[in-house]
Amino acid sequence: MSLTSRILIGMLAGVLFGFLVQWSGVAPEHWVRAFLADGLLDAGGQIFMRSLQLLVVPLVFISLVFGSSELGSSGNMGRVAGKTVGLYLLTTALAIGLALGIASVIDPGKGLSDHNGPTGLGDSVDYVVKAPEPVKDTLINIFPTNPVAAMADGNMLQIILFALLLGVAISKTGDAGLKVKGIFSALNAVMMKLITLLIELAPIGVFCLMGRLFTTLGWEEIAKLILYFGTVVVVLALHAGLTYPMLLTFLAKLNPIIFFRKLREAILVAFSTSSSGATIPVTLRTVKEKIGISNEVSSFVIPLGATINMDGTAIMQGVATVFVAQLYGIDLGASDYLMVILTATLASIGTAGVPGVGLIMLVMVFNQVGLPVEGIMFIIGVDRLLDMMRTAVNVAGDATVASVVAHSEGELDRTTFANRVVS
Ligand code: ASP
Repeated sequence: MSLTSRILIGMLAGVLFGFLVQWSGVAPEHWVRAFLADGLLDAGGQIFMRSLQLLVVPLVFISLVFGSSELGSSGNMGRVAGKTVGLYLLTTALAIGLALGIASVIDPGKGLSDHNGPTGLGDSVDYVVKAPEPVKDTLINIFPTNPVAAMADGNMLQIILFALLLGVAISKTGDAGLKVKGIFSALNAVMMKLITLLIELAPIGVFCLMGRLFTTLGWEEIAKLILYFGTVVVVLALHAGLTYPMLLTFLAKLNPIIFFRKLREAILVAFSTSSSGATIPVTLRTVKEKIGISNEVSSFVIPLGATINMDGTAIMQGVATVFVAQLYGIDLGASDYLMVILTATLASIGTAGVPGVGLIMLVMVFNQVGLPVEGIMFIIGVDRLLDMMRTAVNVAGDATVASVVAHSEGELDRTTFANRVVS
């Protein structure tokens, strides 16, 4: 049985387990919850997440140094970087524009507000507002003062910058550079093997993550906010089902159905971990080995995307803005909408793809258009499930842009893409 099928079975079994536990209504101190769900499954899920995370820094560093040493020598680096960042910003702006448009038609917050503000939503979870980083600091922080510290902290943009510089230097250092490049090329092959070994854990890891989560997921909150929840899901589906297929068909000349079939493994892992950062190893392996994108392009575009490209997150933010504005009876004008597009697009640049980070970025958006930050309290209860879905969209967006860039650079191996999906 293929790995993808095993992951899917692990996921469904986990969801089923969670539903059964909730349905049977066992008390929290019952062994099924205390020992199995909160003990064993929680530990298994965390071990799986950690085994992915442990790969991220060495993998990104090694594959990008090797990739940029290849690109650096052909002088294409600036062009690839420009196209990548441009496409990432464009797809994010499109995503949030779509979200604002559809949310304004559906009006998810109508009827949940009277003159005194939100009503009928009951008590909400306390939300501690964390101040996001100002844009100026985000820019300065791309430049590391100490690359070792950047790696220790897992600061992706700093690691990317240092790896790019090192790769360019290697490509310009003649014989000595060639020797170093050989080492990185070999290390890169070893890292890819390590991913292949660890990814075998995925079916069990995904079962543990889903099993534990679905024993605790609160359905009442979702029922209360069904219009908000549904709007986000509809826009996510439209963006993934229309925008990406169009980009793939017209700009990458790839069949979107085959593309998404090949990407399933990465999408399932993104969904279960809610972290595009932790999914980097699986995304990289998939786009290289199944879609046929070269190491030069994928080693740069995928880690960068996991950090700066969050279309799914932007969609949640667009819908949340309209929803909370309606809750408080605040009218947003065209200039506010433009501000939301700009802020949400910029906010995604400085924040790493980890679970729940989208809500922190939302603070920045709300501040910018003058919405009450406490409004976030009303959507927090349904955010866990939405986080999973939008992370899957975030990762699909990264792979789509990587394919477009690779096609335009002649770095897409169509024979690999045409091969039947295996594992
Ligand atoms: N969990 C998302 C990601 O890792 C970010 C977010 O929307 O919270 O891509």
